[in-house]
Amino acid sequence: MSAQLKPAAVLLPAKTVAVAEGDGIGPEITRAVLRILAEADPGLAFQPLTVGLQAYLAGHSAGFDRRVIDAVTEHAVLLKGPITTPQGGGYKSVNVSLRKTFGLYANLRPCVAYHPFVATHHPGMDVVIVRENEEDTYAGIEHQQTDEVVQCLKLVSRPGCERIVRYAFEYARRHGRRKVTCMTKDNIMKLTDGLFHRVFDEIAREYPEIASDHMIIDIGTAKMAVDPRRFDVVVTPNLYGDILSDVAAEVAGSIGLAPSSNIGRHCAMFEAVHGSAPDIAGRDLANPSGLLLSAVMMLVHLGRAGAATAIHNAWLRTLEEGLHTADIFGPHSRRQVGTQAFAEAVVTRLGQRPRDIPAVDYPERTMSSAPVLLEAAAVSREKTLEGVDVFLHWDQAERNPDALGHPLQAIAGPDFRLALITNRGVKVYPSGLQQTTRTDHWRCRFQSVEGRRLTPSHIAALLLRMAEAGFEAVKTENLYAFDGVRGYSQAQGE
Ligand code: NAD
Repeated sequence: MSAQLKPAAVLLPAKTVAVAEGDGIGPEITRAVLRILAEADPGLAFQPLTVGLQAYLAGHSAGFDRRVIDAVTEHAVLLKGPITTPQGGGYKSVNVSLRKTFGLYANLRPCVAYHPFVATHHPGMDVVIVRENEEDTYAGIEHQQTDEVVQCLKLVSRPGCERIVRYAFEYARRHGRRKVTCMTKDNIMKLTDGLFHRVFDEIAREYPEIASDHMIIDIGTAKMAVDPRRFDVVVTPNLYGDILSDVAAEVAGSIGLAPSSNIGRHCAMFEAVHGSAPDIAGRDLANPSGLLLSAVMMLVHLGRAGAATAIHNAWLRTLEEGLHTADIFGPHSRRQVGTQAFAEAVVTRLGQRPRDIPAVDYPERTMSSAPVLLEAAAVSREKTLEGVDVFLHWDQAERNPDALGHPLQAIAGPDFRLALITNRGVKVYPSGLQQTTRTDHWRCRFQSVEGRRLTPSHIAALLLRMAEAGFEAVKTENLYAFDGVRGYSQAQGE
């Protein structure tokens, strides 16, 4: 190890970091990263934790136990390897549970091209994706409601939007970034994504020195794939951010290179963007760079800038010298190395700087990744109950909407009128089209009769009348107006 590095590293105070190696390639890339950390920052100690498959097998259905909660709370940082999540059934995602348990609201995913050393279509790409990390469809609230229909709730809150959007602008300001782009699908989801976009526009006005714009997520993702240099910082809801950052990481060079941090008020978690790669696990083929760069983000977060700078520059130098793992092996590679040999190559270069790629110099001042964000005071608004959507499981009379609508009209009074019935969001009653596909899941919208002031008791009475008439309600949604503004979507075709 170089004499240039050691004095700075030794001066750093002792700090313990919680570490979970995870599943699949997790143990081998974690081993490689800890090897480099131990050399670059001897002041660091590691508390090993078990999360993921082994925790499930030990009977912890969340994929982690109380010890993990205590250790992460105590040390305030977790360096985590990837976790295998069963698809389509079984346990819930540990990653999502950890992010939500610890209130890690911001997921930061820098995607950088290392041209010409790692093949990329986009030399000069340097994009940071700020993904909302706690809300959206990742609330994981799903139900089977009828034989044919399942649902997933997409939850978006104003404080959640404010926190992530402000984080993105604060990040841009602190890091000298020039533009923040918001991506949503608010042409379709006018309430949920519409709120995210509206909050973005409000907060953008507080940062006049930073340019801001908005794109619909589908064209935004396409542009990210073909022309990522038009983006600088992108802020987006949870699901879009997950997909967009994989696209960005892959077109930058390799998903195996992309790091991420998950930032909360009290603690932070650092992990690679990629998953547990079971196809190459245990073969010393995995690229440890994603987790290593995540560890660099962790060091910066902890104010250990000297070690972060040393590791990052040694890593760049290793890339430049063409010592590459299989996933990035290409025309500029000199020698293909395995996971552990790559780590040794980085260790050997600690104290060296890259020759061609610009070197990194993290400022010495303590630079927590979590800016202190001021919460806007909650605004209470006048809330008026205007009606109720009752979702029915109904599969009779050849699914003829009139055969459902007529009896419901009779049941509705005297407080309500049946305004419409939809099937998967499309109006089928009154005056539906024969061609519209119909499932066994019907949304029946009852609105208050003119001049009637509704209370929840009116809704309970309506539900009782429906049950007595043999209709099975599987879900209800109250229809409110806030300060006179309708707080529910129109039906397609309404
Ligand atoms: P993946 O990222 O694990 O693998 C996708 C492809 O990229 C594979 O071909 C793999 O070999 C390759 N790859 C990934 N990381 C690499 C690395 N470091 N070096 C070289 N090649 C690498 O995605 P997947 O196959 O969709 O998911 C596998 C499992 O990982 C699933 O159970 C999924 O739920 C989980 N996952 C976990 C996380 C996480 O823990 N944060 C993130 C994504 C996926």
